[in-house]
Amino acid sequence: MATDPRELYQQVIIEHNKKPRNFGKLEPCTHHADGHNPLCGDQLQLTLSVVDGRIEDIRFEGHGCAIDVASASLMTGAVKGKSVAEAEAMAEQFRGMVRGELDPSTEPHHLGKLTLFQGVKDLPSRVKCAVLPWATLHSALKGEEVVSTE
Ligand code: ZN
Repeated sequence: MATDPRELYQQVIIEHNKKPRNFGKLEPCTHHADGHNPLCGDQLQLTLSVVDGRIEDIRFEGHGCAIDVASASLMTGAVKGKSVAEAEAMAEQFRGMVRGELDPSTEPHHLGKLTLFQGVKDLPSRVKCAVLPWATLHSALKGEEVVSTE
């Protein structure tokens, strides 16, 4: 494993694009939403199975750029088994981090390895790509079925 955070970030992005985790569609599902980032062309369909306020399972489909796919792959892994409230808190923290509003090195968070994406804050055109899976998750949990980052 690389020790340089930028190198590690590249490796993780490449790896998750080669083998996206939780790729597919849950049928039946309890929650779903479609996300679209018109700036980049990212498309994402999210299906979830929420039981007793906990995300039992989650899958994503669609096509997007490397950052979008890696973010969706890591997001689904991070929220599986979490309560809806925990997942919403992570979505909020992730959004804050990639917008440069939350500094994960000094402020409390539950992002774990998702902090790999903190460099995205210096790439304004990619922020929406990284956030799209989380925005789509938020919409699905709220019962809104379509989200556009525009
Ligand atoms: Zn993108």
